[in-house]
Amino acid sequence: MLEELKKKVFQSNLDLVHHGLVIFTWGNVSAIDRTKGLVVIKPSGVSYETMKADDMVVVDLDGNVVEGNLRPSSDTPTHLVLYKAFPAIGGVVHTHSTYATAWSQAGIDLPNIGTTHADYFHDSIPCTSDMTADEVYGAYELETGNVIVKRFEGINPVHTPGVLVKNHGPFSWGKNAEDAVHNAVVMEQVAKMAFVAYSVNPSLTMNPLLVEKHFNRKHGPGAYYGQK
Ligand code: 13P
Repeated sequence: MLEELKKKVFQSNLDLVHHGLVIFTWGNVSAIDRTKGLVVIKPSGVSYETMKADDMVVVDLDGNVVEGNLRPSSDTPTHLVLYKAFPAIGGVVHTHSTYATAWSQAGIDLPNIGTTHADYFHDSIPCTSDMTADEVYGAYELETGNVIVKRFEGINPVHTPGVLVKNHGPFSWGKNAEDAVHNAVVMEQVAKMAFVAYSVNPSLTMNPLLVEKHFNRKHGPGAYYGQK
């Protein structure tokens, strides 16, 4: 079942290692088949050295395992909340990549201070609020998804495809698993650049004209970046 999607999700998980975003088993990628209402996700805590495409787990949107012998990623409920809340997305990524995670631990939004950021994320990459005792001791991973969705009230998740979960780390998403990985790589890079930029000049400013210019030349109605 969903063999092609399993191969893509498997490869996307390995790509996180290739891009230096994941060590050990510190991350997960999933993708959704919207027609079937099924999600393919990495198994929990399985070494990437031995993991196979066949080990990917198929779950429904309620989190029931539909196919697979292994337990799905511990973060599966977070992914499912995101798929339900953001109907335009097709893939979700979570990592503990150094700079984006450090920014999550610092607990502040990652401001849009350069064209690299603006090319991919229109707004600041928001950081979620503290989770309550009920959220942490209750359905923790599902509530993690809920705090993300709450933080996105008034923010377009397609135009800003990522979030920093406070004291935890980044989640990103995209039209498919590959796109979500791409956005995770960019998020890590812009977090690193912002760290350096603020170290050099803590009172730096961003020209808002450049945010609109760069975001729109890639994603706006008259987008002209790249090839036809
Ligand atoms: P899983 O191996 O269960 O996906 O967990 C990885 C992780 O990063 C937890 O936050």
